[in-house]
Amino acid sequence: MGKKSVSIANLDVEKLVQMLNEALAEEWSAYYQYWIGARVMEGPMRSEIESELLLHATEELAHAELLVDRILQLGGTPLLNPAQWPKFAKCPYEEPTDPYIETVLVQNLEGERCAIQRYEEIASFTNSKDHATYQMAVQILNDEIEHEQDIEDFLIDINRMKDDIRKLRMC
Ligand code: FE
Ligand code: FE
Ligand code: MG
Repeated sequence: MGKKSVSIANLDVEKLVQMLNEALAEEWSAYYQYWIGARVMEGPMRSEIESELLLHATEELAHAELLVDRILQLGGTPLLNPAQWPKFAKCPYEEPTDPYIETVLVQNLEGERCAIQRYEEIASFTNSKDHATYQMAVQILNDEIEHEQDIEDFLIDINRMKDDIRKLRMC
């Protein structure tokens, strides 16, 4: 525990640790959602999308590492039991029961939008009060924005392909 690290944080550290633990639960949930979704999904562009979703999974895991490091620096206790994940996560886990690639992508997109909201909140809460956490939140936020864009782009391409097939059928 870094005592100086805690004393320079000009905010409610307990509340911040709670937010970071909620984010930690959400990152593990996002990790598994990408990891399992990439494996069960079926549909167009599968081989291309699968590798990107697996890359996103590893990036979510890296976010979890940043969060745990920061929680420890702040003198908090990171969640020690996976049973706590659903109690802390505000972004719901979306089970990929329908393996169609577009459905899996839309579920991941919801998760990314929730994550963007989460890091926006942490950044606002820590801005000018805890620079270290603020910098981390902005770094993760930028990754989540990139994830959202990647998925939106895939969905646009799938829809273009569907439109082209529809047009072909009409002529
Ligand atoms: Fe993440
Ligand atoms: Fe993400
Ligand atoms: Mg990406």
